[in-house]
Amino acid sequence: MEGYQNILIVGELDDNGVSATTAQVLRVGRTLAEETGQQVHLLFLGGEMQAAAEKGYAYGADKVFMAADPQLENYTTDSYLQVMAAFVEEMKPAVILFSHNETGLDLAPRLAFRIRSGVTLDCVAYRMEKESGRLQQERPVFGGKAHASYQSPNEGPQISTVREGAVEPADCDETRTGEVAGFPVVLDPAAIRTRFVRKEKDESQAQVLKLATANSVVCGGRGLGKKEGVDLLVETAELLDGAIAGSRPTIDQGWLPGPLQIGQTGKKVSPKLYMAVGISGALQHMAGCANANTIVSINTDPEAPIFKMSHIGVVGDYKGVLAGFNEELKKTRG
Ligand SMILES: Cc1cc2nc3c(=O)[nH]c(=O)nc-3n(C[C@H](O)[C@H](O)[C@H](O)COP(=O)(O)OP(=O)(O)OC[C@H]3O[C@@H](n4cnc5c(N)ncnc54)[C@H](O)[C@@H]3O)c2cc1C
Repeated sequence: MEGYQNILIVGELDDNGVSATTAQVLRVGRTLAEETGQQVHLLFLGGEMQAAAEKGYAYGADKVFMAADPQLENYTTDSYLQVMAAFVEEMKPAVILFSHNETGLDLAPRLAFRIRSGVTLDCVAYRMEKESGRLQQERPVFGGKAHASYQSPNEGPQISTVREGAVEPADCDETRTGEVAGFPVVLDPAAIRTRFVRKEKDESQAQVLKLATANSVVCGGRGLGKKEGVDLLVETAELLDGAIAGSRPTIDQGWLPGPLQIGQTGKKVSPKLYMAVGISGALQHMAGCANANTIVSINTDPEAPIFKMSHIGVVGDYKGVLAGFNEELKKTRG
């Protein structure tokens, strides 16, 4: 790994500044940096963002860079990829970490291919191997029943995406400040194959963002019986300051929007509390939630497989169980 050093985090900004998922990746980066005596570099790509980018220092970055250009205001794969490839070529980071979200999932594998490196997606734990300086990356496999450890054999940057919610966000220390270094943006317009047309507000996005960072997730399955069943889930989620989600049948029937699906072909979450309501516990579903600290399930069928994978199981109709639970929550939370 000669010539490659430091941990590069590809960060994202939202209306509140440094996004919650970037703060999580920063915690991973800080831990690795402290293990190895390297620095955490944080790169933002986008339009005007000076003030927001400065906040990167408060979350533990040693050096914050921004590639700011009106052409990067809205994400397009080719433009971001060009800038990322140029940055990596110049800075030669040993490790590059993205959030495992839409942008990270799009950009990380393409960057790996461009610079002929490896990539490991959706990881939940990391360790730097002392002798080789290579990154050990762990991700859940077989529906969360086991963890596999990966290492890239390539020389050059080790690229990975960090599962949302796998770690707590880095602490914010407002006294940590610094100057943001500009990285020059040189784009080849001929190599940009997509064009930004317009931005439309997707109401489900707020729920999706919440799902990535919430400590509690209340997930409804086919056992809800009808769309109106979701209302009770929403109430529970609000009382817990958590997020709502659904199993595949819930999404397929249009009771909840697609990006809220949990499972093998949906989102993977690792909240402190996962409430599975009217969900049988198929492996494809559990692949998305088996990493939760505590799984509580509510099901009318005492033989439902989900009970074997739950820490707390309640046999009963979800309507009565959740209504009672919500009443108790209202009392305790005033
Ligand atoms: C390739 C592939 C990928 C897949 N990917 C996913 C994925 O990403 N996510 C996913 O979720 N699934 C996925 N599936 C589908 C998966 O196999 C299951 O079919 C699905 O998870 C079942 O959803 P469910 O538990 O909501 O429904 P069901 O299996 O029908 O379970 C409903 C449960 O609700 C209980 N119930 C009924 N009424 C009540 C009530 N009133 N109160 C309480 N409980 C009640 C029942 O006892 C039952 O256990 C995938 C399948 C395949 C083949």
